[in-house]
Amino acid sequence: MAETESPMKTTDPARATPSIKCDAHEIAPGVLIYSDFVNTYATKLGDELLLIDPGFAHLSGAVHRSVRAWSDAPVTSAVYTHGHADHAFGLQAFLDAGDRPQIVAQENCLDRFRRYRLTHGLNAHINQRQFSLPAPMFPDRFIEPTLTFRQALSQRISGHEVLYTAARGETDDGCYVWIASKRFLFTGDLVIWQAPNCGNPQKVQRYPVDWAEALETMAGLGAEWLFPGHGLVVQGEAAIREMLTNTALYLRSIIDQVLERINRGETPEEIYHAVEPDPALSALPYLAARYDHPKFIVRNLLRLWGGWWNGNAADLLPATWQRQAEEIAALAGGVEALVGRGRTHLDAGDTAMAAHLAEWATRAEPGNRSAQELKRDVYGARLREEPSLMAQGIFRAARNDAKQVLQDLE
Ligand SMILES: [Zn+2]
Repeated sequence: MAETESPMKTTDPARATPSIKCDAHEIAPGVLIYSDFVNTYATKLGDELLLIDPGFAHLSGAVHRSVRAWSDAPVTSAVYTHGHADHAFGLQAFLDAGDRPQIVAQENCLDRFRRYRLTHGLNAHINQRQFSLPAPMFPDRFIEPTLTFRQALSQRISGHEVLYTAARGETDDGCYVWIASKRFLFTGDLVIWQAPNCGNPQKVQRYPVDWAEALETMAGLGAEWLFPGHGLVVQGEAAIREMLTNTALYLRSIIDQVLERINRGETPEEIYHAVEPDPALSALPYLAARYDHPKFIVRNLLRLWGGWWNGNAADLLPATWQRQAEEIAALAGGVEALVGRGRTHLDAGDTAMAAHLAEWATRAEPGNRSAQELKRDVYGARLREEPSLMAQGIFRAARNDAKQVLQDLE
C-alpha cells in the first residue's frame, strides 16, 4: 500500500474520519503500523527495531508475522506505553522466535500486573460488562518489563536517542516516547481519537490534570509525526500541536469547572449536573464522546480530590436499595404504580427518570413481569440514545439482566 493512501493517516485531524483497523503497512518512513483496535508500531532505528505497544496476547502471532514480513532486524527494545490488556500482552511470539528485547515500562506497570493477579475475577467481569463480551475475560499471563523508570529514561538505539517520559492519564503507569532525531512522538493512550478515557466508571482512579500537563508538554516538542495508541497517525507539526492543545483544553475546561465548584463548597451531585464539556471542542472528530463520557470525568475528579461520600446524608449509612424501593412502592400504592409512572417518563423521552422508576419497581418486586419489562425497555432506550461505549456496556448489561429474569419467569 502506498504511504499516501494509508487509511490510518491524516494531515488534517479536524476533518478526519477515525478508523480502528487496517492492514499492516509502512505508515511513515521506517515505521510499520499494525492496527486492530489498538495500534502497534515497529520502528527501524539503524539495524535494530523498537516495538511500541506489542498489543493483545491473541494478536501476537499476527503482529509478529507482519513485522517479520517487513523487516528481519532484531527487536532489541519493546515498550509498554502502559500495562493495559490491549497494549502490553503481545510479545510472546517475538520471544518464541528468539528476540530478546529490553522491555521498557514506567515502574507502576509492575504494580499494575500485581493488582491484575490479585483482582483477576473483578477485571474479567468489568471487561465483560464494558465491552459486552460473551463471558468474563482477562489476561492472566504477564510478560514483565525488564527495564523500568520513574520519571524519564533515555536510551540509545543505533545512535538515536529514545526518550521515555512518565505521564499519568488514563493510567498511573503511562508514558510517551519521543525520538527527536526523527521527530516521532508515540503517545500511547494519551491520544486515542476519542474524548479522553479519563472517567471510566468501573475502573481505578484516572488522572485528568496530569493528562492535560502531558499533552501540553508534548505539544511543545515539535513532533512531525504523532503515533497514537488508537486511531489515525497525524503528520504535520502544526496539526499535531493543535490536536494536542485542543485535547488539553477539553480536559482543562472540565477540570477548571469542577475545581471552581468544589472549592465553593458545592456537593458532588450539584457539580455532576452543572459541569459540561466545551461544545466546540466536543464537536472535533478526535474528541467525540464515543468511548468514555465527559460526565464520568467529572465523577473521577470528584473521587480524586474528595472522598466517596456523595453529599446525601441518608446515603452515608443507608438502608438497602431493596428496602428503599419497597418503601417507595408502598407510598406509590404498589409496584404497578411505579411501572405506570416509569412508562409515562419513557414515552415522554425522559429515560433517566424512567430508569429510576424501573430500578425501584424491580428491586421492590424482582419477580414482577411488568417491572422487568419496563427495565428491559428503559435500558434498551438508553442504549440506543447513548453514544458512549462505557455507558452502553452498563446499560446493555442491565437490559440483559431484565431479559434473563423475564426468561426465568416463563
Ligand atoms: Zn488502549
